[in-house]
Amino acid sequence: MAALRVRLFKGGHCTHKEQMVIRTGRRATVAFPSMFALIEHPTQGPMLFDTGYGQPFFEATRYFPGRFYRMLTPVQLAPHETAVAQLQQIGYAPEDIRHILISHFHGDHVAALRDFGQARLVFLESGYRHVKPLKGIRAVRLGYLPSVLPDDFDSRALPVSDSSGHLQRELPPFGRVYDLFGDGLIQLVPLEGHFCGQMGAWLQTEAGPLFLIADACWYRASFEKLILPHPLAMLLMHNPDRYRQDLARIHLFAHQHPEALIVPSHCPPSIHAYMSQAAVSA
Ligand SMILES: [Zn+2]
Repeated sequence: MAALRVRLFKGGHCTHKEQMVIRTGRRATVAFPSMFALIEHPTQGPMLFDTGYGQPFFEATRYFPGRFYRMLTPVQLAPHETAVAQLQQIGYAPEDIRHILISHFHGDHVAALRDFGQARLVFLESGYRHVKPLKGIRAVRLGYLPSVLPDDFDSRALPVSDSSGHLQRELPPFGRVYDLFGDGLIQLVPLEGHFCGQMGAWLQTEAGPLFLIADACWYRASFEKLILPHPLAMLLMHNPDRYRQDLARIHLFAHQHPEALIVPSHCPPSIHAYMSQAAVSA
């Protein structure tokens, strides 16, 4: 059966005290890359999972209240690190990207959407419904920057929900997931504890099965050893009980699928492990 070809990239990074994202972590400030993925589908063409940071992030956070976001998580993005620049390096123009899968609406996952004017935008309907009415400080409090979304977002949107007609499958222990193209290659897995409508992507790639879990945790040690973020960070979660449940399910899934690589979006060891595995199998 044809499989996906997936490449992972780092689209800039932010810095944080490590103990905020995992409560056994160091007090030291460390860098967390913002991962995006290029997914080449055998019939649907090239698409992205998230975008990393982009120039609109800096415009949206120049003045208050957006400035609070940048103060909380200082961001670095060199010009060669944008998704557009890195895709051009491997021969893709922005208009080649046919779909972008949006894991959730935090700024570091959607800030470069404006660079891809031809892409259809795929997301869980519940997530967009949650953020769409938010403006000003109410949006920034949730890590959502409305101005980074393209002006024609709604006309390019492909929301996924129980009524969107997508094939639904059982993926234990997550329950029902959405098979994006009905071929089993890309299954969208609700992981809503971190952010309303967050989704991961369970991918069947040439290099083996790959589970992109977005911000269900920040470090792989979190799901491997069931270690939560700092209690203060838990206060920022959309649904802390659901967050714990998501983490426990990923822990179980990892045991049930030892062949799969599970990649949180900000975890350098996971991102590098996939990059070297994909390089060996290329
Ligand atoms: Zn997030």
